[in-house]
Amino acid sequence: MIEVRALSKSFGAVRALDGVSFTASDGRITGLLGPNGAGKSTTLRILYTVLEPAAGSARVDGFDAAETPLEVRRRIGVLPHGAGLYPNLTARENIAYFGRMHGLSGQELDSRVDALADLLDLREFADRRARGFSQGQRTKTALARALVHEPQNVLLDEPSNGLDVMATRSLRELIRRLREAGKCVLFSSHVMQEVAALCDDIVIIAHGRVVASGTPDAIRAQAGEANLEEAFVKAIGSAEGLE
Ligand code: ADP
Ligand code: MG
Repeated sequence: MIEVRALSKSFGAVRALDGVSFTASDGRITGLLGPNGAGKSTTLRILYTVLEPAAGSARVDGFDAAETPLEVRRRIGVLPHGAGLYPNLTARENIAYFGRMHGLSGQELDSRVDALADLLDLREFADRRARGFSQGQRTKTALARALVHEPQNVLLDEPSNGLDVMATRSLRELIRRLREAGKCVLFSSHVMQEVAALCDDIVIIAHGRVVASGTPDAIRAQAGEANLEEAFVKAIGSAEGLE
């Protein structure tokens, strides 16, 4: 479970986050939806402990990201934006490397890597070096790496960027399987349709503020719009008015 409370962060004169609060629950898929520059990556980076907030808190299973980063890292799997792989390692080696960092080894590590290779359909290129991988192959490998220690919480920053139709479908299927396994899945996107297709809960963010949140039905009702896209546009528009 992820709890973000009154999170603020500035970069120089840019106020990236201005009091962001939301909760992402176990067994649900939560979408962080907003236009470019809204503050999605900044929120996720604070959650995965590479950035400290100026104010507010980000908690994972009750552990504060700024105060207890190691406890938080143990409980999350992360697909960062533009995730880099080690080009000289094979897909399998890239995944195993992360597993070792999480304290896995031997038979246990091997069987995790094998299971992920099956789950994510990457057997065909598992023993090739990552250099020259297609975007889809890179994303699959980075996802396997994020999941190798079986984290309870999964953070994905715009995971379908650059994926083709088939890779997007298998990504969605994987995200649904994570939900079925009771995981807390939080992913960001600037694509309303993608979030609508997948999410149980949606947090709409614009200019560093949450402008609407809840189930798709609740967001439609809140905006007084039958159509989620209209509700999204209206919510974003209300943030423009605050400028
Ligand atoms: P999103 O992921 O929603 O596109 P970000 O969280 O990346 O948005 O960025 C929010 C705002 O903060 C943007 O205006 C962005 O330019 C700014 N920003 C993010 N990271 C940095 C940084 N390291 N240095 C300066 N500005 C940044
Ligand atoms: Mg981003």
